[in-house]
Amino acid sequence: MTNTLLVAGGRVLGPDMTVERADVVADRETGRIEAVGPDAADEYDADETLDAEGCLVMPGLVNAHTHAAMTLLRGYADDKPLGPWLREDIWPAEAALEPEDVRAGTELGVVEMIRSGTTAFADMYFDVDEVVAAVEAAGVRARVGHGVVTVAKDDEDAAADVEESLRVAREFDGAADGRVSTAFMPHSLTTVGEEFLREGVETARQEGIPVHIHANETTEEVEPIVEERGERPLSYADDVGLLDEANFLAHGVHTDDEEISLLAERGAAVVHCPASNTKLASGIAPVQKMLDAGVTVGIGTDGAASNNDLDMFDELRDAAMIGKLGADDAAAVPAAAAVEAATAGSATAIGIDAGRIETGALADLAVVEFDAPHLAPTHDYVSHLAYAVRGSDVRHTVCDGRVLMRDREILTLDEERVVAEARERAEHLVERAES
Ligand SMILES: [Zn+2]
Repeated sequence: MTNTLLVAGGRVLGPDMTVERADVVADRETGRIEAVGPDAADEYDADETLDAEGCLVMPGLVNAHTHAAMTLLRGYADDKPLGPWLREDIWPAEAALEPEDVRAGTELGVVEMIRSGTTAFADMYFDVDEVVAAVEAAGVRARVGHGVVTVAKDDEDAAADVEESLRVAREFDGAADGRVSTAFMPHSLTTVGEEFLREGVETARQEGIPVHIHANETTEEVEPIVEERGERPLSYADDVGLLDEANFLAHGVHTDDEEISLLAERGAAVVHCPASNTKLASGIAPVQKMLDAGVTVGIGTDGAASNNDLDMFDELRDAAMIGKLGADDAAAVPAAAAVEAATAGSATAIGIDAGRIETGALADLAVVEFDAPHLAPTHDYVSHLAYAVRGSDVRHTVCDGRVLMRDREILTLDEERVVAEARERAEHLVERAES
């Protein structure tokens, strides 16, 4: 066995959420985990070793719903509800974006994610070739897509937008040595007209392309659908073909019991975005009910403009905390469920073979240091992952068997250059948007 990476001396979080002393061996050729065990270090002559002494080795976190380039709008417009925030602030600024801005913003987002142990993400945006270039350079994994909006467009432009999303899904699937996968991404049930939605989803289904969409995010979005159609949004979504097993929906905040049953039956996953839903006062998703019904639940940060960071540890803590508030039950969304949702749940939601540390799975790992004061004592590792660990506790990040961050130094991108460029581009973007 040649070309191996050894992560030695740590404890490992298993798929069943147990923690044991073990080493992890990754095959850097296949990008998969070759062995996990207490003596693995003795059995392999590794080409590269990462020191995990005093650390917990866990699956890399999977940010299952974001718009990475929106880091450029972090802190640009806050403290407003979703509708006015989008119409008055975000969409006008996005209209002024140049492709190079998308590249710079995505790189900034990816640097932030690697720093905080996220190894894969699902991204809905535009100028997707720039997103793919950033993913390729950074060494992370992503399911990417072009977000379709047809409202306020004539039929020709609307059809072209649908076609662009399908084109992007076809063209970039398998890019970056297979680390990039794609989806058809209509923005939401209310921002894409019915005929365009049906046509696009049907084509995607025929071609085996998954679909990702925002759904049931706010009452402002749900109520008109109920009024106009006389049915719940996910009943409409089901009729359109959106609830197939390969598909995943962001938010699902205002989802009733029947819709939850429908999700469980059809197999579509829900990506819970607790920080975004809290900040925009969208509501509290019924996460424990979804888990009880057997719905696949992942976790996402949503864009940085509604969060305002991309730290998945923050996000899974919010999921555990707000899940209790929403269920009026301190036993709801326990630590292990939140950690599982941010790893295996998110990986299943976006359709990648990661999110768990076992032989054969993709070697996407985060190595978390446990010696900081806020992590002492350590009665329970999983409790700390949910309630006390911060993204800055991550020491090493590995994706596809390749080290992306070693001892808190990012190896694939020049962090200083990325941050400086993003600052400059964000400044010019806002000037253009407001002129
Ligand atoms: Zn979103």
